[in-house]
Amino acid sequence: MSQTLVDTPAQAEEVGTIDHWIDGASAPGTGDRTGPVYDPALGIVQKRVRFATAADVGEAVAAASRALPGWRETSISKRQQVLFAFRELLNSRKGELAEILTSEHGKVLSDAAGEIARGLEVVEYACGIAQLMKGEYSEQVSGGIDVYTVRQPIGVVGIISPFNFPAMVPLWFFPMAIATGNTVVLKPSEKDPSAAIWLARLLQEAGLPDGVFNVVHGDKEAVDAVLSHPDIASISFVGSTPIAQYIYETAARNGKRVQALGGAKNHMLVLPDADLDLVADSAVNAGFGSAGERCMAISVVLATDSIADDLVAKVKQRMAGLKTGDGRRSCDMGPLITEQHRDKVATYIDRAAGDGATVVVDGRDGEFDGEASGFWLGPTLIDKVPLDSPVYTDEIFGPVLSIVRVEGYEDGLDIINRGKYGNGTAIFTNDGGAARRFQREVQVGMVGVNVPIPVPVAYHSFGGWKASMFGDAKAYGPAAVQFFTREKAITSRWLDPATHGGINLGFPQHD
Ligand code: NAD
Repeated sequence: MSQTLVDTPAQAEEVGTIDHWIDGASAPGTGDRTGPVYDPALGIVQKRVRFATAADVGEAVAAASRALPGWRETSISKRQQVLFAFRELLNSRKGELAEILTSEHGKVLSDAAGEIARGLEVVEYACGIAQLMKGEYSEQVSGGIDVYTVRQPIGVVGIISPFNFPAMVPLWFFPMAIATGNTVVLKPSEKDPSAAIWLARLLQEAGLPDGVFNVVHGDKEAVDAVLSHPDIASISFVGSTPIAQYIYETAARNGKRVQALGGAKNHMLVLPDADLDLVADSAVNAGFGSAGERCMAISVVLATDSIADDLVAKVKQRMAGLKTGDGRRSCDMGPLITEQHRDKVATYIDRAAGDGATVVVDGRDGEFDGEASGFWLGPTLIDKVPLDSPVYTDEIFGPVLSIVRVEGYEDGLDIINRGKYGNGTAIFTNDGGAARRFQREVQVGMVGVNVPIPVPVAYHSFGGWKASMFGDAKAYGPAAVQFFTREKAITSRWLDPATHGGINLGFPQHD
């Protein structure tokens, strides 16, 4: 089967195309390039998605710019009402969205529902924007003078999202961007673009004025047009580290505010006193959920020789019970996103054996509850992975769990802190003092204590350290209010004839 990302208009006609969404309506755009959208469980191209040209991106930005003055002037209460309506619609129709996610991404339906639930949390947080956007006021900072700050929207914001959370990652950003009075141009992943269009239609149904939320599909050409457009004020990006770094540098050079979240390699440090059944359950859940295609997946378990053999046996036993197959059936794990990605992930299994590691479970040997043409790879467990093997150093982004043997806490901490990434990590122990030390010493942005996937709730903010995030504004939570607004400070005096001071050329001081 062809994995070509660009094909002819004639081929697009055969399966149907996914259009852009500009100014409240479907828009075919001006280009003739399209890309395939697979059903990964069936291994077929189910639709083709249009790739935007720079002119198409220009149309979307123009629509967002036209909508901006009206939306910015809309009262906070009215903006909240639209978000409340959107929350109700999304909650009542989330099953439809889950089916879209499963058919284009491949994740099992229950996992798709979980993704939507975490996105809904952000919508609910955004419904409280009236409280979150309040400024500060200082009375009588000098004779008859008051100072206050207000937060104002930054303008048209650009969002560029990855394939692995086609609903949740856009939801991390656009509810807060809209709530704070901005208008949006979203460029979702070209691999699973339908969720973004479904959300756009739902926003319209919730009463969002046309042009406030626009979607353009495409690849680098569309992204570069977003990055260079002078009327886009900020970029919120989530994806792999090399692209995140490119986005950060390019957008910053073009004078935009930018937050760019990148890739990860997340470690779980297991101390010898930990409950090994809890550890094994957690490692399997966090390693193989969504087939390992999560930026917060656990991909490395660090354990001492004293417990590692027992732990490997317990993980292996649980893996035997996992069912990999079509996410619409009752399976635990779905296929990978493309055939190409499945093949790349599988190369690490060969590489592991060559690098001296022990392949305990080889996911290529599994049975799959789905069409033979699906992009299958079963859960894979590799023990004694050396630190210089690409199995350890690379972000594999698939259902491959590595065990690295360590000497103890200090060695484990040192390995984590020497890592290139700093997205998530977890410690498993019953020793509160050790956990507290870990939480203070580890150089990672999100830390779990006996919690394997420590994704913060919507009223805290999400983001990693080091090569997992470029820029200093995290996603959602209080950080989003800061990112999507500019603060203005006003120093005000209403003239009182009794205190009018006459001419004074000195620098203003408070007396
Ligand atoms: P990706 O970097 O390939 O693509 C992300 C976005 O960038 C897509 O919209 C894509 O069209 C665009 N893009 C791709 N190549 C480009 C280029 N050369 N120039 C400009 N734009 C380009 O990432 P992906 O494969 O879609 O997603 C998986 C990656 O995302 C993993 O590395 C994962 O760790 C990361 N991720 C990180 C987080 C986080 O919060 N840190 C969350 C989810 C996913």
